Amino acid sequence: MGRKFKIVVAETAGFCFGVKRAVNLANRAPNLYPDRPILTLGPIIHNPQVVAQLAAKGVKKAEDIDQLNSGVVIIRSHGITRQLAARLKEIPGLTIINATCPFVRRAQEIVARMSGRGYEVIIIGEPDHPEVAGLISYGCPERTRVITSPEEIPQSFFKQKKPPRIALLAQTTQPQELYNEIAGSLLPIKGELRCFNTICTATSDRQGEVLDLAGRCDCMLIIGGRNSANTNRLHQLSLTRQPRSHHIETASDLKPEWFSGVESVGISAGASTPQWLIDETITALDHL
Ligand code: SF4
Repeated sequence: MGRKFKIVVAETAGFCFGVKRAVNLANRAPNLYPDRPILTLGPIIHNPQVVAQLAAKGVKKAEDIDQLNSGVVIIRSHGITRQLAARLKEIPGLTIINATCPFVRRAQEIVARMSGRGYEVIIIGEPDHPEVAGLISYGCPERTRVITSPEEIPQSFFKQKKPPRIALLAQTTQPQELYNEIAGSLLPIKGELRCFNTICTATSDRQGEVLDLAGRCDCMLIIGGRNSANTNRLHQLSLTRQPRSHHIETASDLKPEWFSGVESVGISAGASTPQWLIDETITALDHL
């Protein structure tokens, strides 16, 4: 039985630049270091199928730095703290593959540079997120802070006798609107304000396209790991425009009844979903 509906795949579906780069580095590692244990610090991405594929090639997950010895370690795309990077360098014989996304690396460098020049560094982001923990670690502890809203800007900045010098940046996945709002709230300070827009548009572009597709398709499929926060967020957004939105991990989750009376199906996928899972889903839809 052939498929009776049109399929529209989002242009932004699947791996972002930083994740693609990290997974490529992990895939190449067994060929480059055939006789050595290869470990990632935590899961390289939040996708069980990719993690299982890599494990089958010998790239496994280390829970802790103590598990690392003279093998190879791969640093994930959202980076690690400066202190942890220094500890890794001290492990004799350990080869480090740094898969930190270049956009995250740039933000780390801004924190280090501006902190070194004596600026108060403000990072907009989720305080507990590993990327943010990495960013903070590059700053001077007394002058680096994380905020989540304009209300958290210290009022002392507006009253200090000596005008402050402030450097503002954000975790790469923060909403642009929040950055603009906080930058606007800081404008009245008497000192100096340097704004570094470190937001990566991969997330907002993907979310915008899902909303657009969900508004014009009769059914939506969002593909990605159940443990992937950005995939879950895409599903939630899709549901706001299209109640027939389904989060699947693989093609085996598809249910024929979802497509009864449907003329168009939109497909998107989280930043950690590989292209082959998207392709498998499309093939499976042909055989429903
Ligand atoms: S979302 Fe952007 S910053 Fe984060 S890994 Fe992907 S490309 Fe890099």
